[in-house]
Amino acid sequence: MTTHELTGLRAVVTGGASGIGQATARRLADGGAEVAVLDLEPSGVEAPLHGINADVADDASVRSAVQRAADLLGGIDILVNNAGIGAAGTVADNPDTEWQRVLDVNVVGIARTTRAALPHLRRSPCAAIVNTCSIAATAGLPQRALYSASKGAVHALTLAMAADHVREGIRVNCVNPGTVDTPWVGRLLAAADDPEAERRALEARQPHGRLVAAEEVAAAIVHLAGPGAGSVTGTALAVDGGMSGLRLRPA
Ligand code: NAD
Repeated sequence: MTTHELTGLRAVVTGGASGIGQATARRLADGGAEVAVLDLEPSGVEAPLHGINADVADDASVRSAVQRAADLLGGIDILVNNAGIGAAGTVADNPDTEWQRVLDVNVVGIARTTRAALPHLRRSPCAAIVNTCSIAATAGLPQRALYSASKGAVHALTLAMAADHVREGIRVNCVNPGTVDTPWVGRLLAAADDPEAERRALEARQPHGRLVAAEEVAAAIVHLAGPGAGSVTGTALAVDGGMSGLRLRPA
């Protein structure tokens, strides 16, 4: 980012120590914002970003981390609810405990972090929340029943939060990434018999012929979080190379 339109703004990014969250935290800082990263593993977070240990599945941890971030930054204008975990399989494959674990991080984690941040966001003249959702929210992906259910809930939650808080000047949007080249996808590829062949197959399935870069998702998140999107609320922005919207003929 070359402009400094975020100068003076204070941002919190959950899951900001890796992948999409890391690229987002860096881009916010490049735009002039002061940024706190809340993550299970904040040890690798480098200045000027502030790393704070937090588990979005634990209410006490979230409350104390959000308060610490607000104290460090002097308030909160932007909340990026990005922390999330995956789950593979059909509806028959995951026991209740796994459903509860994934929903607790991906869905309740957003509610929890937002609840803790709201008193601070209400004091901001330009408050914005961006949730990291997924094309899985609406696409009907095979072998992703639990993950898709969690992201469908994130999409619905985004709309409900946007409606609840629009009158108090807090905007709420989400991004729906496609397949993004992050350590998460790296781990999935590494587990395949032939990781390089699997990567090529994955790239070939993308309409634009490659994986989405984490920085491209970060750019969308930062746009939605910033003053340039001051009239944008209750939307989902797909960053997926056309995966969710296009109906291409077979090559
Ligand atoms: P990643 O694994 O590279 O990074 C996730 C980060 O979240 C890590 O730093 C991890 O420590 C942190 N985290 C995990 N659980 C946490 C918890 N309970 N509390 C606090 N922090 C926690 O993943 P990524 O690919 O960058 O994914 C980030 C988000 O993007 C997730 O919500 C994911 O569902 C979503 N997403 C990813 C893709 C993709 O293809 N990578 C596609 C669509 C959506």
